[in-house]
Amino acid sequence: MAKRVYTFGKGINEGRADMKNLLGGKGANLAEMSNLGIPVPSGFTITADVCVEFYKNNKQLPAGLDKEVEAALKKVEKSMDAAFGNPSNPLLLSVRSGARVSMPGMMDTVLNLGLNDETVEGIIRQSGNERFGWDSYRRFVQMYGDVVMGLKPEDKDAHDPFEEVMDALKDEKGIKADLDMTVGDLKELVARYKKLISEKLGKEFPTDPKEQLWGAIGAVFMSWNTPRAVLYRKMNGFDDNWGTAVNVQAMVFGNRGESCATGVAFTRDPATGENLFYGEYLINAQGEDVVAGIRTPQQVTKEGSLRWAKDNNVTEDDRTAKYPSLEEYMPAAYQDLVNVYTKLEHHYKEMQDIEFTIQDQKLWMLQTRTGKRTAAAAVKIAVDMVGEKLIDKKTALLRIDPSSLDQLLHPTFDPNATRNVITKGLPASPGAGTGRVVFNADDAEAWSKNKEKVILVRIETSPEDLKGMSAAQGVLTQRGGMTSHAAVVARGMGKCCVSGCGDLEISYSQKTIKVNGNIIAEGDYISLDGSTGEVMLGEVKTIPAQLSGNFGIIMQWADEAKKLGIRTNADTPHDAAAARNFGAQGIGLCRTEHMFFEGDRIKAVREMILADNLEGRKKALAKLLPMQREDFYGILKAMEGYGVTIRLLDPPLHEFVPHEEDAQMEMAREMGISIDAVKAKVASLHEFNPMLGHRGCRLGITFPEITEMQARAIFEAACQLVREGVDAKPEVMVPLVGIVKELASQKAIIVETARKVMEETGVKVDYSVGTMIEVPRAAVTADEIAKEAAFFSFGTNDLTQMTFGYSRDDAGKFLPDYVAQKILPVDPFRVLDRDGVGKLVRLAVEKGRGVNAKLKVGICGEHGGEPSSIEFCHLTGLNYVSCSPFRVPIARLAAAQAALKNAAPAKKAVASVKKTVLAKAKEVIKTAKAVKKAVTVAVKTAKKPAVKKAVAKKTAPKKAAAKKPAAKKTVVKKAAPKKASVKKPAAKKTAKKK
Ligand code: PEP
Ligand code: MG
Repeated sequence: MAKRVYTFGKGINEGRADMKNLLGGKGANLAEMSNLGIPVPSGFTITADVCVEFYKNNKQLPAGLDKEVEAALKKVEKSMDAAFGNPSNPLLLSVRSGARVSMPGMMDTVLNLGLNDETVEGIIRQSGNERFGWDSYRRFVQMYGDVVMGLKPEDKDAHDPFEEVMDALKDEKGIKADLDMTVGDLKELVARYKKLISEKLGKEFPTDPKEQLWGAIGAVFMSWNTPRAVLYRKMNGFDDNWGTAVNVQAMVFGNRGESCATGVAFTRDPATGENLFYGEYLINAQGEDVVAGIRTPQQVTKEGSLRWAKDNNVTEDDRTAKYPSLEEYMPAAYQDLVNVYTKLEHHYKEMQDIEFTIQDQKLWMLQTRTGKRTAAAAVKIAVDMVGEKLIDKKTALLRIDPSSLDQLLHPTFDPNATRNVITKGLPASPGAGTGRVVFNADDAEAWSKNKEKVILVRIETSPEDLKGMSAAQGVLTQRGGMTSHAAVVARGMGKCCVSGCGDLEISYSQKTIKVNGNIIAEGDYISLDGSTGEVMLGEVKTIPAQLSGNFGIIMQWADEAKKLGIRTNADTPHDAAAARNFGAQGIGLCRTEHMFFEGDRIKAVREMILADNLEGRKKALAKLLPMQREDFYGILKAMEGYGVTIRLLDPPLHEFVPHEEDAQMEMAREMGISIDAVKAKVASLHEFNPMLGHRGCRLGITFPEITEMQARAIFEAACQLVREGVDAKPEVMVPLVGIVKELASQKAIIVETARKVMEETGVKVDYSVGTMIEVPRAAVTADEIAKEAAFFSFGTNDLTQMTFGYSRDDAGKFLPDYVAQKILPVDPFRVLDRDGVGKLVRLAVEKGRGVNAKLKVGICGEHGGEPSSIEFCHLTGLNYVSCSPFRVPIARLAAAQAALKNAAPAKKAVASVKKTVLAKAKEVIKTAKAVKKAVTVAVKTAKKPAVKKAVAKKTAPKKAAAKKPAAKKTVVKKAAPKKASVKKPAAKKTAKKK
């Protein structure tokens, strides 16, 4: 039977830090501290496996656990030199939960366990502090009555029944503060609490310490499944089957007088990462008082205290008199704490979050764990620790969550600002946006010209909203997922966006939003947190992005480690330049359609759409040509020296015409035609399924003049740049190809146009033609397609849409249910689905490279900026990933992590195979020796049959030895993806259309 109880503490330690899954984080670290000789009150941990058994067994504790607990308790009594339930020398216990991951405040705790009318006298005698004894007793009855016996407020509006009793007593006595209660009052309170329990629950408060202990153990196990704990696990993706361990630990008291204290601290500043011991404590208090905010906590260090006093306008006299630091108040205990935290940081090689109690000047450690920190702190701590030689660069890089870098690239909300959250949508594009609500793009533009900060609120967005999105501080939509138009475009702009916020009822006509009982009108202030999806009422204060020098250092280390190239999805010279600043090495996707909405261009586009014949279309396209040329000139120049993948027109044409009556009238006026003509054209462009309709290369096949105009604009811009001495590298990309002949037909136009332009200008440009792989048929016929393509770029937005058959713009209606019901682990539009879409990607890479070993392969769907998908791209041997400018640093770090994480296992695998081979070889030699011996013996004894048998056996091990090459093969196979990834060079893309 597996061991179910592990003791910890002086002389009785049984656990270790690496036993978190069994002992929980708290239990494992208490054991580890004890191993390090750090003073930890002794105790024992009941394993998380027992919790799992408890639930399997209809909430019954397993048989035999009582014996193990008894035995552990005896050891704790001996180690602490006290006896549980013995009034002359009572041991009191705390009983706490502790899962393998921290679930702060989600589960239950009972303190001061073991108190009854007899033992309370014992602790009073020992401490000489009657008030402390009775205060501990009343706290215990209250906590136990609530947590274990279940006497809680009847509903969310009701008061806590124990608080009511206390308030009544204080009223009777005319007392305000808890501290004003006399010993007599506290005694009276204990009696009234017990009476309350008896009356309300019909059972007595247990006086037997053992009964109290089992009650508390059961309650902690039960608290694993309280609704709040279940919800917390769901939100964080933690497994319901892990269970919690229970830590039963000797109590030490920070509230036994003025020579006692309790506190929490971080070994470095968790907000800035500064290497300054940072903590708060309270004299004569219990742990929960520090976090409860009833008293003003004091700073642990003198330096921290001086800074605190300055920030809070506290004079030095007041500070030293009322709020001295621990360093000043208890110098010896403080020095012990410094020694302990230094030891812990060196041992774990990581910033720690610690809890301590000082009882009669003696320091006891109650907890240590990895400290949570801001992204800025994570970067600084990682860089500093490398400088201090605590960790290497690889560890530093692996410690930073790439997605958290968002926090450093966008303005964020001031952490001290109040947030009035009214609803939550999808965290579509990070950043903090605050401004006045407007409901359409024109208003957004007009208001922002008037120096108003605005938030654009739409049911969903379309390319017509681009100018409004660009003018707004943030975008909020009712519909649309992580790859909706709003999400993709906002990310591209580095603009905060909350999408798919289903609670909103938006009325364009009334210019109002109804949401959860609030009515927000045009002009009202709201704030959006694009990193959490929170929507808040009012103006929440923001602070600007902070790009420190350490950030640059981490990025440089990341570049040294990564194998993937990082490109960006950018449609303007401005975005291209911004992305290059963030470290982009080229453009993986330039969505040319976005250029069509700028200024007067939409007019020319509409003219082209309205034209009834080729001549009319050519006339309109001729107007667009110089504008596109200018864009391409700017973009190619901004990315000088790097490849720029320019995609030909992709969206269905209906996206370029207005659908609302007002706008249609305006278009009719501008074009000098009747509203009916406009309406008729709009109706003729209507498609039942535009995403599967007349879009992508299908447009270029129907209207080759569009392809020709775009190709001409690209090559004229490139030739001009080359003439100016700029190294322009255009890569022309044909979208939505599913049949090789589609690509061949478009390529012919591009190549011919390039030839003509080069002939006309007399300049030669290095260029290539490739395609997106975003239709499943393209992936499965990639060997055919590769014959015509110099590069593939996986459009995983469309590829996901078409592989699953989920509309990218409507999937928000059901995907949350799929994820909640675990039908899908995550939204596949956010994290690449390796099992389905990923298989198509892998297949296409293999087939494509099979016919063209030099084929450059990248990804430009939204997944190109998502860390787990980036890891997949690394493993699949892509040459590059492409993502929006603001995700470039995230992608650089994620690519480095992918390379580092997947390099180590390979080395390990080789080592382990070598080891196995060696062991086998030794075995063979041993067997051979044994056989030889047997043969010799057999020969000696002249028993021929025995010899034959022995010889026959001997041959078997040889066979085993002969298998060695197979093992080597496995190694080579495993290493292969890495090799492939080392060679990467590819193209990627990310885009959105609507
Ligand atoms: C894609 O489909 O992944 C892609 C990049 O193209 P778009 O989002 O523009 O359809
Ligand atoms: Mg696409």
